[in-house]
Amino acid sequence: MSKPPHRLPHQLDPFRLAEAGVLLSGSLPLAQLRRLTPLLADDQGEIRLALQFDIDELKVPCMTGRIEADLQLACQRCLEPYLYKVAHNLALAWVRSDLEIERLPTRYEPYLVEATPVMLNDVIEEELLLALPQVPLHPDQSCSSKVVANAPQSTTAAVESRANPFAVLANLKTTRKSK
Ligand SMILES: [Zn+2]
Repeated sequence: MSKPPHRLPHQLDPFRLAEAGVLLSGSLPLAQLRRLTPLLADDQGEIRLALQFDIDELKVPCMTGRIEADLQLACQRCLEPYLYKVAHNLALAWVRSDLEIERLPTRYEPYLVEATPVMLNDVIEEELLLALPQVPLHPDQSCSSKVVANAPQSTTAAVESRANPFAVLANLKTTRKSK
């Protein structure tokens, strides 16, 4: 039967975990991911993950699994936050050199391990960054920028009705000349 899930470690040796066939499952606070949080409208919440470490039939140390998170992204059209659900299936191969990357079956995304231990946060963060849209945008119907575009152009009118400071300057000049 399957082994009981381990508590999530901060640091891990992916090669050892692969040898041992470990399943990691649990959740991480979003606020821990320092490169991701600046892209979020709200860093509350958590990432749910289930990651199976394994050595495949070609003797490739790998990790397959799923990451899920409900992210609040800022829409780049109206700047309002909106919910973006990430449900990302991943298949990583742990490699130690570029040479190993070339030999990998194409179903894997390589993860180059320059030194162990590896920080679990870094791995998860890179996967989440890959899963984000390049330009975060509301789905069309729910974007409030449409409402602004259809509204009467009241803001423009307000600006134009204000006294023009350059006009005042021009008046001053003519007064001087006339003396
Ligand atoms: Zn929007």
